[in-house]
Amino acid sequence: MRINILGSSSSGNATLLVFGTTRVLLDAGFSVRELARRLREIGEDLARLSAVVLTHEHTDHIRSVPRLARALGIPVFISRASCEAWNRMNPTDPIHAAEYIVAERPFQIGPMTFRPFAVPHDAADTLAFTIEAGGAKVGYVTDLGYIPQLVGERVRGSDVLILEANHDVEMLRNGPYPWSVKQRILSRHGHLSNDEMARFLREDFDGRAEHIVLVHLSRTNNHPELARLAALEALGARGSAFARDAERRVRVAAHDRPGPWIEL
Ligand SMILES: [Zn+2]
Ligand SMILES: [Zn+2]
Repeated sequence: MRINILGSSSSGNATLLVFGTTRVLLDAGFSVRELARRLREIGEDLARLSAVVLTHEHTDHIRSVPRLARALGIPVFISRASCEAWNRMNPTDPIHAAEYIVAERPFQIGPMTFRPFAVPHDAADTLAFTIEAGGAKVGYVTDLGYIPQLVGERVRGSDVLILEANHDVEMLRNGPYPWSVKQRILSRHGHLSNDEMARFLREDFDGRAEHIVLVHLSRTNNHPELARLAALEALGARGSAFARDAERRVRVAAHDRPGPWIEL
């Protein structure tokens, strides 16, 4: 399997998964034009996409999906509640031809097995995934207020762990957002802080993933180096087996350009 994080932040998220001729876009929170540009930059092409899989209906994950699906005639895998919530809020730009997916019910796209599971977030029905193909496993866990035990169990054995590191708690508290928004982000159904991400790596992570990519950083309330340091410190606290190569294994996804290919 080959993976490319096309870009990630609170304002837009998209990841491309490739195995053989199957190409799945996991979240599509950029405009069609911007997606096309980023795909071209890594030698890919919008027209070759097989399907889109969505975590939830927030704009930073779904922005171009209705247009993309109409233009390419490809299926959109989304939970019924998320799809209905989007269509209710965007009656002029609805998602048709959705394939409804349900937490705890694995589904197949070509050779890829997707296992969705529920995470605590303030959308209609937010899902995280593990994706398996050709003996490799990817964990994709973003948009959640905290990491329940179950999530740790689901991502066990992942070769690549794509994990939210949304905000630094102090930067958020002292930052410019209105208090109600701060409370929302900090809540158990908000977004993952660097601290909670680091707690997971320190306490529940199995240490296996060769690639840990931190995603969904807030451009206002976080700094890539703070998130990365929190992860490195957490792994360092686990002893040498976990700290091994940590500098190489931990990366932060950029918001404005595709990252390097991860080849499994
Ligand atoms: Zn969200
Ligand atoms: Zn989001």
